[in-house]
Amino acid sequence: MTATTLILDGNQVATRIKESLIGRINRLSEKGIVPCLATILVGDDPSSATYVRMKGNACKRLGIQSIRIDLPKNTSTDELIEVINQLNADTNVHGILLQHPVPNQINERAAFDAISINKDVDGVTTLGFAQNAFDFANFPSCTPAAIIAICEYYNIPIEGKHAVVIGRSPILGKPVSLMLLNKNATVTVCHSKTTNLADLVRLGDIVVAAVGKPKFVQGDWIKPGAVVLDAGYNEGNIGDIDYDHCIKNASAITPVPAGVGPVTIATLLKHTVEAAEKLA
Ligand code: NAP
Repeated sequence: MTATTLILDGNQVATRIKESLIGRINRLSEKGIVPCLATILVGDDPSSATYVRMKGNACKRLGIQSIRIDLPKNTSTDELIEVINQLNADTNVHGILLQHPVPNQINERAAFDAISINKDVDGVTTLGFAQNAFDFANFPSCTPAAIIAICEYYNIPIEGKHAVVIGRSPILGKPVSLMLLNKNATVTVCHSKTTNLADLVRLGDIVVAAVGKPKFVQGDWIKPGAVVLDAGYNEGNIGDIDYDHCIKNASAITPVPAGVGPVTIATLLKHTVEAAEKLA
């Protein structure tokens, strides 16, 4: 670690976001409205169950209602869409989160697209994604929005910088690439078929790791002075970057845990409150 490496504290950013919600939740409460997030978990994947539990607990601590719907792992696409339609119609539910990934037999795109745009608090619908691409989404995907929120909190300049994003999933790599582009970064998006990955990452003033592979990004891939944002979350609280080595070159870096994760959850709560405000 260089003496000047800034550790980007996700807990601090998350706390700031959550504090800003307290008054808004109280004002909704005066109108008899309690923001409500419905989370759907299909199957029994232990990490997904943990994520859903963490989100439910975070809601509870802030006075947001959370409804958890557990569906068996053999649920069909039609059955899942039926549940989503019921939640769309329920005026007490303001946000709907379908935990990704769903079992293979389900058409995940069809299920995501069944979520009403007004309740799409994680920006997973085709329309929500497109609105984000055009830079006018009400609810951009939470992890990409969290990455941008961390940059804003710490005044990390994006405009004119070369951002290298590793990963192009529809919920993370692609939307964060578009958000960085909308903020006038020059963006390189890398994926599993990218050749010369290390050389491309070495060009990045900002590096976003969204790969899903523990300690994937190596320390000597990081240009001295680059900002490293690790969206990864793997078993054992390990990110997608080799933190101990990347920190030696980075000027600023997110740890795992306590980096992007808590800000993602705070962003989800914020979107749920905003959805409730819009309905009110
Ligand atoms: P995903 O859907 O599995 O996507 C992974 C991406 O990484 C794909 O685009 C894939 O390329 C690319 N990739 C895989 N191997 C690669 C390689 N060898 N070289 C370059 N690129 C490679 O995963 P995801 O849902 O985006 O999640 C990514 C990470 O973020 C995971 O660690 C996940 O746990 C974490 N995550 C964290 C949060 C949070 O709140 N912190 C939220 C969501 C996800 P192809 O497209 O070519 O397959």
